[in-house]
Amino acid sequence: MTGAATVLDIRRLCVDYGVGEDAVHAVSDVSLTLRRGEILGLAGESGSGKSTLVFAITRLLRPPAVITGGEAIFFPRDASANKRQNGSFSVSESSDAFIRDDALTGGPTDILRLSPANLRAFRWNELAIVFQSAMNSLNPIMPISAQIMDVMRTHRPQMSATERKQRAAELLRLVGIAPDRLGSYPHELSGGMRQRVGIAIALALNPDIIIMDEPTTALDVVMQREILNEITRLREQFNFAVLFITHDLSLLLEIADRVAIMYAGRIVEEGTQRDLYLHPRHPYSYGLIHSFPSLHGPRQRAIGIPGSPPDLRAVPSGCAFHPRCPLAMPVCTTALPQLLPQPSAEQTRVACHLYAPTATGEPPTADEMRAGYEALAKGSGSL
Ligand code: ATP
Ligand code: SF4
Repeated sequence: MTGAATVLDIRRLCVDYGVGEDAVHAVSDVSLTLRRGEILGLAGESGSGKSTLVFAITRLLRPPAVITGGEAIFFPRDASANKRQNGSFSVSESSDAFIRDDALTGGPTDILRLSPANLRAFRWNELAIVFQSAMNSLNPIMPISAQIMDVMRTHRPQMSATERKQRAAELLRLVGIAPDRLGSYPHELSGGMRQRVGIAIALALNPDIIIMDEPTTALDVVMQREILNEITRLREQFNFAVLFITHDLSLLLEIADRVAIMYAGRIVEEGTQRDLYLHPRHPYSYGLIHSFPSLHGPRQRAIGIPGSPPDLRAVPSGCAFHPRCPLAMPVCTTALPQLLPQPSAEQTRVACHLYAPTATGEPPTADEMRAGYEALAKGSGSL
């Protein structure tokens, strides 16, 4: 996945709730790249700014939220390339209905500055969202067929009613629901099936990017597993990129290609799933990964991260994690660590003074981080 082209480049994004001195800096200076066909996971505790980031790049933020800086650049595919190369949809093979609406194929486009008309064309066509609440957001008095076909009616007016219906049946089949359920109403489906319908709607126009905001949180673990497998299979078939948001890092370590960890509105570590799992560098990442029992390797006692995430109206100075960090040093209370590439791993970036080029001494080992957390749990802090 390393060589895949960029499809979305979020650059120095900042989002506040409110203005002036009382503004809550929910997303601060976030830069992230999503590549074609990859699953990029975004994890962090509740309140770390994940949903605000997603709402910003999809232009769904409502006041008092204000985007105070940054860009979200979407890179359209080569206009000569066709989505059909990446998978086969039965309807698209026989009609022009799924050849791209080329409004956005001219070149890179800043989503944050799209005109209302281009934003309408962009949504669903290029980027679709599956929310945690998708399973509850279906209209209870409309059969699911009508709800799937609505997206096509709005964005592909040239499709005939027969094509829309064929396509809706195909989409249901793709997400593992028998097409004879097309006439079902949401209350006739299980929660997992309703969430699958949400995914089918997101797939309707074969977008390049699908954002999934806690799509499986409300489901039991068996259903969660089935849906994750489904997402992985569909991604392989259609090569869309996924930005997958969750507070459950263990889930991301299973399905994502790369993972970014957010804390207090900033990215604190980013890397491949494997590197992050085997060598978490930021003390917060280490704490998150080791707060759930590992299914592989030797048995280790789970550790907990003491305290709770900061109130974003009063973020701690310096590194926002310092009041909870087992390895905090005096500099951590005053200087904000920069998110910097790591020479030891090509795709990894870390925001921690322990890994800065100016750091004296070796970065901490896993044993040292564990010992630090254990000492904190016993009440002997680092600072
Ligand atoms: P969760 O996993 O609980 O959804 P999250 O990581 O997605 O959390 P956000 O919902 O983006 O976090 O919230 C980020 C911060 O912005 C939180 O501290 C929250 O208190 C603040 N926030 C969110 N919505 C508003 C609002 N309408 N007004 C003021 N502050 C808000
Ligand atoms: Fe801990 Fe300091 Fe690194 Fe922050 S910068 S994670 S406080 S060591």
